[in-house]
Amino acid sequence: MKKNFLGKKWFFEDFLDVESSYSTWGFEIKKELFSGQSKFQKIEVFDTQDFGRVLVLDGIVQLSVKNEFVYHEMLVHPAMFYHPNPKKVLIIGGGDGMALREVLKHRVDEVVLVDIDKEVIQVSKKYFAKQIQGAFSDKRVKVFNEDVLSFIKQYKKHFDIIIVDLTDPTPVAKFCWNKKFYQDVSNALKDDGVSGFQSGSLNEPFSKKVRRDLSKTFNYFKTHRAFIECFPFSEYAFSFGSKKINLDKISIKKSKINLKYYSPKIHFVSSAMPTSEL
Ligand code: SAM
Repeated sequence: MKKNFLGKKWFFEDFLDVESSYSTWGFEIKKELFSGQSKFQKIEVFDTQDFGRVLVLDGIVQLSVKNEFVYHEMLVHPAMFYHPNPKKVLIIGGGDGMALREVLKHRVDEVVLVDIDKEVIQVSKKYFAKQIQGAFSDKRVKVFNEDVLSFIKQYKKHFDIIIVDLTDPTPVAKFCWNKKFYQDVSNALKDDGVSGFQSGSLNEPFSKKVRRDLSKTFNYFKTHRAFIECFPFSEYAFSFGSKKINLDKISIKKSKINLKYYSPKIHFVSSAMPTSEL
């Protein structure tokens, strides 16, 4: 929500049903660049002093230019390096195009991106062109604007990698956050496929439930964590699952692709979890 605060216009993040409603966070809006209602959700883009440009969907921050590389590298590369030879990739959500940019750094043959809302893609192409780096025009990419709930069911043992970059359970995404959907993702993966899920802020009950459910869906399961400044109030969780690949090792010692945050060292350090966690 937007509010006048300290004599300036501020944005404060809305509350989701799955989160505590006793605290929120916000930032001063330097400039409001876009505000519109698509068929599926409210889309806003702000320029801010501390986080750079920010994308907000249904009142929930999706990314900031200052921090997005940490988020997208940690969502994509652990999965890509857990797999010995990823060729066919599905990205679920991810209409901002930045997970796509990271996937395309690998020698993949085909990337399918399914995002229900083509307006998120259009707005992102306009306001985040520098970050997207032309990813949507790569000839290996096919984009579908459909609800993933039905889209995913047409694939059985098809993808090497599935990256789930959905909004937290806002009205448009809330039916994707359950064991039934995670099972559909598992069914769409080859037996030796690997999936990576954005799974919320580590300490939230919502994130803990997602991790519990994912760990029951996949034989092998691992969570990695990273601090994403624009996602308070704890470190962020990225969860990975596979039916057959043991997620104790990765296929590289040194990354040859151009990365700013992820490295094999970060990979292993980021998967250390507090004793009481999954
Ligand atoms: N980084 C983000 C975060 O932290 O939540 C996720 C970014 S990405 C913009 C999320 C995308 O998921 C949005 O573009 C939204 O349209 C898409 N999405 C939400 N529900 C969906 C559904 N049921 N099927 C396909 N895409 C969906």
